Amino acid sequence: MDYSKLPVFAEADVVVCGGGTAGAFAAKAAADMGKDVLIVEQFGSLGGTATNGLVLPIMHTHISENPQCSYISNIVRDKLNELGAAFNNGANFDPLVLKSVLETICDDAGVRMLFHTFIAETIVTDGRLEAIVVANKRGLGLIKGKIFIDGTGDGDVCVRAGAGYTKGNPETGKNQPISLRYLVANVDTKAFGEFIKERIEKTGINYGASYDGDKSVYVACCAGDNWTFGDLFDEAIKNGELDPDDRNYWQGFMVAGRENAMAFNNPEFFDDVDGTDPDHLTKTQIRGKQRILRQLQFYKKYMRGFENAYISEIASQVGIRESRNIETEYVLSASDLIRRVKFDDMFCQSNYPVDIHGKQLKCESNLTPVDDGKPWYEIPYRSLVVKGIDNLYITGRCLGAEFLAQSSLRVQHSVRASGEAAGIGAALALDRNVLPKEVDGAEVRGIMIEKGAHFII
Ligand SMILES: Cc1cc2nc3c(=O)[nH]c(=O)nc-3n(C[C@H](O)[C@H](O)[C@H](O)COP(=O)(O)OP(=O)(O)OC[C@H]3O[C@@H](n4cnc5c(N)ncnc54)[C@H](O)[C@@H]3O)c2cc1C
Repeated sequence: MDYSKLPVFAEADVVVCGGGTAGAFAAKAAADMGKDVLIVEQFGSLGGTATNGLVLPIMHTHISENPQCSYISNIVRDKLNELGAAFNNGANFDPLVLKSVLETICDDAGVRMLFHTFIAETIVTDGRLEAIVVANKRGLGLIKGKIFIDGTGDGDVCVRAGAGYTKGNPETGKNQPISLRYLVANVDTKAFGEFIKERIEKTGINYGASYDGDKSVYVACCAGDNWTFGDLFDEAIKNGELDPDDRNYWQGFMVAGRENAMAFNNPEFFDDVDGTDPDHLTKTQIRGKQRILRQLQFYKKYMRGFENAYISEIASQVGIRESRNIETEYVLSASDLIRRVKFDDMFCQSNYPVDIHGKQLKCESNLTPVDDGKPWYEIPYRSLVVKGIDNLYITGRCLGAEFLAQSSLRVQHSVRASGEAAGIGAALALDRNVLPKEVDGAEVRGIMIEKGAHFII
């Protein structure tokens, strides 16, 4: 089919493909630099995994000063705080309120948004991305841009445009597990907190369970022994009320702005894990709901505090930890991450651990980084610049990184920083009439800092 004959639905200086965390931050950053920006998003809101996937909280960088490497993060935090929808300095947020906050900050910055529009193809001429081919209620059409930023999480645009990529754990060929998250409302968190304390006393095991009153209830259970809640799961599995996979990864905590609610980071799927396979996405969404409903029955029968609880929300988007990683001008390697290599063009600092999920879950890496007095790794600007396509950036969890490096940098603070850096980079490239690969990453970082981003310099 000759896509070039399709009607042009829209044009912009910067077209941001996918309106997840990285996409929203990229769009706001480019618009703040005076560019005409359009976000194209398949669902009906911004935030992607963080909102439609119900993924919270934002993980700590594991650097004592916890640099967020993003000025937009400060804006988002302040707006969430104003609305009573965050605690812990914005790290714990209400995912529904975050949708509106992201949309509002983009709207106020002049970003145009086109929802319910799926990006299916690209038109590339001589190494330049001319247009994306989209499908929506109007039919098939083109969206043209000078610079494109791929924020689809899976690198859909890059791959359609012919960029190289890797996918999955090189040892197993498999992607990280998929999870379908959910929220439970009407939990008597005080009663549950007391129940947690009693269990710690009764089992003599204090692992994966804590209660400090008010906003702080935390529970977890993974494969292996020595979890405070492990024997409850074992009993329910023996009674045929749960499946062993329900025990292999279970984690619950409280949600900002919602008293008596808990968010669960499960059920987790270990086999149908390809986020770019629509059959896997469908299956995990259907099986996930079934497992969620049986998990609620488990809480009601085996725990205290859930007597009147109900499922208030199930993520409309299954949570993809990792799918593709795109080939960029520089691909961040496992060794860069472990050796804590520093880059002149870095846009993000993090020491978040290598976090590879699996049946035999490793919650933290046992790799020991070199101690150079600067306990963090960095991500270079060049890992956002797609190799072989002149006017295309990749942001978010699928930026240019090896599997092991991605297993650390997928968390939200790095993803936010990646969007912000790509948005600023795109604006500079347009202002100077140069290619993204010719933009100086140190200058991008300088602008982020000027606007209020916190880095350890
Ligand atoms: C289960 C799970 C638990 C996690 N836990 C944490 C945690 O506790 N703390 C933390 O900080 N991080 C956590 N993470 C990681 C982090 O949340 C994600 O890596 C991050 O949110 C991804 O952001 P993104 O912008 O790269 O992608 P996404 O948020 O997935 O955004 C991609 C967007 O693009 C859209 N899109 C995709 N394809 C198309 C297309 N073809 N056409 C149009 N639109 C498209 C999607 O609808 C979506 O809105 C977790 C991730 C998962 C999955």
